[in-house]
Amino acid sequence: MGIVCRLGSESDLPFKKLRTLTQEVYPFPVLSEDLLKLATWMQDYYAASAEAVFETMIPAPIRRGLKPKRIKMLRVGTSLKAADQAALQKRAPKQAVLYDFLKMQTQPMARVKVLRRLNIGAASCDALIEKGWVLETLQRETRIAYDDALARMEQTAAATAFALTDEQAAAAADVAKSLEQEKFAVHLLQGVTGSGKTEVYLQAIFKVIEHGGGAIFLVPEVALTPQTVSRLRTRLAKIGVEAVVWHSRLTEGERFDAWEALARGKARVVVGARSAVFAPVHNLRLIIVDEEHEPAYKQEETPRYHGRDAAVYRSLLCKAVCVLGSATPSLESLYNVEQGKYRVNKLTHRVDNRQLPTMHVVDLRREAPKALENGTLSSFLAEKLLERFERREQSILFLNRRGYARSVICPECGYVAECRECSLALTYHQSDEKLRCHLCHHEERMPKACPSCGGVGIHRRGQGTQRVEASVRRLLPSARIVRMDADAVQKGQEFRKILADFRVGKIDVLVGTQMIGKGLDFPNVTLVGIVDADLSLHLPDFRASERTFQLLVQVSGRAGRGDRAGEVVVQTFTPHSAPIQFARHANFEGFLSEELAQRKAFHYPPYRRLVRHVFQGRNPDKVSFFIEQWARRLEEALGDTVEIRGPTPAPLERVRGAYRFQLWYFMQSITASLPRITVLRKAFAMDNDVRDLLDIDPLNLL
Ligand code: ADP
Ligand code: ZN
Repeated sequence: MGIVCRLGSESDLPFKKLRTLTQEVYPFPVLSEDLLKLATWMQDYYAASAEAVFETMIPAPIRRGLKPKRIKMLRVGTSLKAADQAALQKRAPKQAVLYDFLKMQTQPMARVKVLRRLNIGAASCDALIEKGWVLETLQRETRIAYDDALARMEQTAAATAFALTDEQAAAAADVAKSLEQEKFAVHLLQGVTGSGKTEVYLQAIFKVIEHGGGAIFLVPEVALTPQTVSRLRTRLAKIGVEAVVWHSRLTEGERFDAWEALARGKARVVVGARSAVFAPVHNLRLIIVDEEHEPAYKQEETPRYHGRDAAVYRSLLCKAVCVLGSATPSLESLYNVEQGKYRVNKLTHRVDNRQLPTMHVVDLRREAPKALENGTLSSFLAEKLLERFERREQSILFLNRRGYARSVICPECGYVAECRECSLALTYHQSDEKLRCHLCHHEERMPKACPSCGGVGIHRRGQGTQRVEASVRRLLPSARIVRMDADAVQKGQEFRKILADFRVGKIDVLVGTQMIGKGLDFPNVTLVGIVDADLSLHLPDFRASERTFQLLVQVSGRAGRGDRAGEVVVQTFTPHSAPIQFARHANFEGFLSEELAQRKAFHYPPYRRLVRHVFQGRNPDKVSFFIEQWARRLEEALGDTVEIRGPTPAPLERVRGAYRFQLWYFMQSITASLPRITVLRKAFAMDNDVRDLLDIDPLNLL
């Protein structure tokens, strides 16, 4: 199978043998003109092959030309005379039952279902069909994701429309103005948590629909944001607009149907994760990127594209409007505002003038080890939890590490249990007493004695969500506590079930990882505890401060969204660090100017563009030899236009047995400098045992 990208009288590609087209899979183009252009941009900008790009853009079932499943339907054929009917009843009572049943229906019924329900065999049915009294037809089955009982529960919370606040109205009007001009524009909707950004997105979608256009609505991870999806679909359904859902957990059939509904123009709006940016929406006028700062928008395999940036570029190609929304926009987007490339619309107040939650910082250095008798909870946080439980209000506890203990160490010889294949400490999981590598999923038993010195003092250190859960159980034995992380929740459905239970008050305390930090809106949550704010702060990543700040603001944004004010308790060993202090005072501008000054001083993004080049292989000497060679070659060729840093071992030196070294390239412009690197890379003779990967605008630096 191939893809026709353009036509010509002669091939300009270096292939000796050309093949004749034998058959077309679709009678219409699978990629519209703007998507073809977007594909070219992705190849150039992300240094990816055409194959990789097309594989990402065109979902597998569509590439293969999956034929939608057809099912047999029954309805009555010729009307029976009274005499015939009486005869039938006598001779073949089962046939009569089936006939009578179908006669009562207003539309065709699925054969399997009817026969099962009436407990009638295939032979009786076929006999009726033979005589022409019943007709059998084939009909396409449509599979609709997110159309089940859970979805209806999620919707009840979502249905009402409001009078917009002044700020919402102003933002909506400004976006509407851009839409009317039918020119490319990017709006950054910077609105504090609970300020009603979704309502502004909806207004923009309504406007587009009114004028016959289509829209794409991107969320970081659909399975984690069932609420937003439901809210959107319910509201659109009210004006008769079908919105399809698009994400990685759809079945192939659901995927095919969603794609086809858009490609045929039957559905005009798609809600989806990253890859929905490539949806074949007709007359695309608007792309919304909710929580635009979320790293989940970056694909961590080839092509390593950023969904937000692809959205902006596609909007440019379509002369459409792109709306990026967040309470904590990325520094890249804020910089683009400063440069005059994006317009900014601010929502500074929560709806109904609800207060942002009060943030308390607990200095863990002062909590004597004994005071942490509840394991992971300071006495202050424990007291707050008790208070909430007594008042029948709900709490969320957040810790971005699953498992029970972060590491296992021997105090006698300093041995730390590490993965054999990765340079990463193993995490202890209590449920099955196993140590697990969170990178490669390797697992082993918890040792009874230190494997290195035989010491029996070997113990678990640091905390994970399992341990937090255990602590809360000890503190509140009669409370209903549920943990939500990748271990507890394997499927999207379970996740939705937990959230639905939480909404109706069946859960008192929800303990979880970043899974619960996103976009959730529960009015009865009045306390959010951040168990260890230092986790993300001390990573070897220049975005560590930004990430920590975003996390604190986003997670605390889950508190106080109802009538009662919310409180946030942050536990930390570094209470004076900038992100914690700025988050505490909800001082976004302050954080921004300090962080930008740092970035500028060290030539980090957004002031320079960054490319990460990783070399990896089983033999560390070979890897280091080739990366040295390459770095020298590059330096000679590029001179001063690109600043090269490294090579150095990557922070995670080994992953799945492969040793990793890296280079960083800093440049003014990717489009100006990357092509030369790509050309050199193609010409560079590399050993077969060493692989390299280029990551443009990387977010993962480990
Ligand atoms: P954000 O995404 O900015 O955190 P949401 O869009 O989730 O905020 O809105 C927060 C809550 O406020 C939701 O429950 C929403 O239904 C409600 N809401 C939004 N706009 C209004 C309004 N104008 N009046 C009253 N409630 C509103
Ligand atoms: Zn491992």
